[in-house]
Amino acid sequence: EVRVRFPPSPTGYLHIGGARTALFNWLFAKQHNGKLILRIEDTDEERSTQASIDGIIDGLQWLGIDWDEGPYFQTEFAADHIAAANRLLTSGHAYKCFCTKEELEQKREAAMAAKQRDVGYDGTCRHLTAEEIQAKEAQDIPATIRFKVPERPGTLYYDDEVLGRIERAYSEIEDFVIVRSNGKPLYLLCNVVDDIRDRITHIIRGQDHMTNTTRQVLLYEALGAKLPVFAHMPLTLDLQKRKISKRSHGEVVAVQFYRDRGFIPWAVCNFLCLLGWNPGTDQEFFSREELIQAFSLSRMSRVNSVFNYKPGDPKFFTDPKLIAINEHYLRTMDLETLGEMVRKELEAEGLWNPAYATSRRDWYLATLGLIRDRFHTLKDFTTAGRAYFSDQYNIDPKPLAKNVLKFPELVTWLPQLAERFAQLEDFNAEATERVSRELAEELAVKPGTLINAMRTVLTGQLAGPSMFDIVITLGREKVVARLSHVDH
Ligand code: GLU
Repeated sequence: EVRVRFPPSPTGYLHIGGARTALFNWLFAKQHNGKLILRIEDTDEERSTQASIDGIIDGLQWLGIDWDEGPYFQTEFAADHIAAANRLLTSGHAYKCFCTKEELEQKREAAMAAKQRDVGYDGTCRHLTAEEIQAKEAQDIPATIRFKVPERPGTLYYDDEVLGRIERAYSEIEDFVIVRSNGKPLYLLCNVVDDIRDRITHIIRGQDHMTNTTRQVLLYEALGAKLPVFAHMPLTLDLQKRKISKRSHGEVVAVQFYRDRGFIPWAVCNFLCLLGWNPGTDQEFFSREELIQAFSLSRMSRVNSVFNYKPGDPKFFTDPKLIAINEHYLRTMDLETLGEMVRKELEAEGLWNPAYATSRRDWYLATLGLIRDRFHTLKDFTTAGRAYFSDQYNIDPKPLAKNVLKFPELVTWLPQLAERFAQLEDFNAEATERVSRELAEELAVKPGTLINAMRTVLTGQLAGPSMFDIVITLGREKVVARLSHVDH
């Protein structure tokens, strides 16, 4: 059985890099009918926060990434970590190191001065005799526990599902610390102990963990556990090739940002999956099922992927591709589902009318279908689309200047039009268009002058659906009222 995990450290919000890791693990689990385990790696007590744990869980739920086991919390397994360290000591795979910080620093400086290649710790305590160790312990000298890297010729290797065979000379790996002098096991060890206990079969994580992997491969061997399959994913960089982070990019890399900006969760997933993976065809949009089918570790890119976002560029508030994918879903998804999403937006703005779920449901869904074509996010329904759900809407100053203020006569023309609308026997698209054109002709103005002014006054917007569709959608009462007193 395939068992994968997503083990975030709760030291900040869920960012798009972490979400992508979670997504790839989720896809892999789903594809293999396996299990995804959520493990919160909260061993760094100073930096872990409850707010971050909540944020990560909310973010995953919002994206629709569900897990089969957990959340487990790493701190709950401290006893396992210590037991593993002791086992390694007993079996001779690790040793106590009594070197102080100052001593280690001196060794490093001496090595640098001698221009020796820095392979880290020189192994002083590796060769202590049992008596020497006892003597040091008797003096209560604090000790770390170091892993004893085997003295072997040749290279350590593992076969990475993305990168192929990864090799590293044993002689280049230093005896690394697995337990601090305060008794706390290091993350490197905890992570392996947990993965063994959770019976993880595939470790899919970023290439930034590869130096850990080398040492962890040794830990698996020493603990007598089967090595899982590793798949190291490319990193996500910005246009300047910097790793994306909160510090340099701010909120735009947080999953929360996209929820707050009215993105569709699956659109975000679809975008994320294309950061570092491609289907080998030019298909860009995938349903959930299609993506589960199409996904494969072997089509993961080896080179870093680019989050196409320039901090401070006012033109795009995020990667334009993410906006384009969101528009695609917004404009093509089934109206029932869209209706639920827009409902939340309307409710948040106090614009939801319970009748939209009952007697006016058909109107509600048809209206969404009509107005969504030019929209970018769910927020547009309550901003650019506000006039469809409320009489309190603002008129965009640009079309106002261009279409209304330029023709002061509109103050009387539009009420005249309203009157003719009021008198129509059948208030439909053809009839409203006909009387609009007739009035334009009588007034000797271009029909466009009247029509653009109508659109501006009725919706507040310059662009939108066909004018006479708008008129029908809003209904006679609102149209007549809005056109009757043009006092802008
Ligand atoms: N807690 C680690 C992180 O958030 C997980 C690394 C791993 O996948 O093993 O980077």
